[in-house]
Amino acid sequence: MSIEKKYQKIKDSLPKDVTLVAVSKTKPIEDIEKLYAIGVRDFGENKVQELTEKAKQLPKDIRWHMIGHLQSNKVKYIANFVHLIHSADRQSLIKEINKRGEQEKRIIEVLIQVKIADEDSKFGMNFQKAEDWLRKLGNYPFVRPVGMMGMATNTDDDEKIQNEFAELRLFFEAQQKKYPQLKILSMGMSSDYEIALQEKANMLRVGSKIFGERNYDE
Ligand SMILES: *Cc1c(COP(=O)(O)O)cnc(C)c1O
Repeated sequence: MSIEKKYQKIKDSLPKDVTLVAVSKTKPIEDIEKLYAIGVRDFGENKVQELTEKAKQLPKDIRWHMIGHLQSNKVKYIANFVHLIHSADRQSLIKEINKRGEQEKRIIEVLIQVKIADEDSKFGMNFQKAEDWLRKLGNYPFVRPVGMMGMATNTDDDEKIQNEFAELRLFFEAQQKKYPQLKILSMGMSSDYEIALQEKANMLRVGSKIFGERNYDE
């Protein structure tokens, strides 16, 4: 099946209010162009260098999502065009995003990445830290949290995945009552997006199920 067909098949299965981010990391420009041609505008990358290289070569109306772990010293390379940073996972990074936003005179939208998996390799704040940060929002006028992002444990145990997504959904809904600007719940990748949908994710990040397997794994 072509990339376009694979994308369309997933897209058609989703409720209208769910945003499907096509995760194009490691994939060539031509693959992105194929989806662009059928109207897709939301693309996700996890490395700053790859993201900036691709953005330079592709149309300016693409909405670029930075979904991977972000080093503070690289924020400056994406601050003037990135659409949404999904991986705001620590205070020091948020400070840096704020600083670069101020320089660019641009409010940068971010998702608070919350750690729900029980693997050491997954980044994210715990619930307490996320709450602390939301309380201090006023200190960072050039960073605007518009939701949360979480990655479930990489396991075949669907129930465990569902429990992790549910935990984040409940936290998200509770915070949303206090901070109505929180609108996006980014959960679910190729292997678990159907479970994420059950837990009311409204933004999915799908790579290999659209573009095919990657040659090296992130
Ligand atoms: C690579 C990646 C994805 C997409 O993974 P697939 O399994 O290929 O769908 C989603 N989210 C993040 C943070 C990623 O790094």
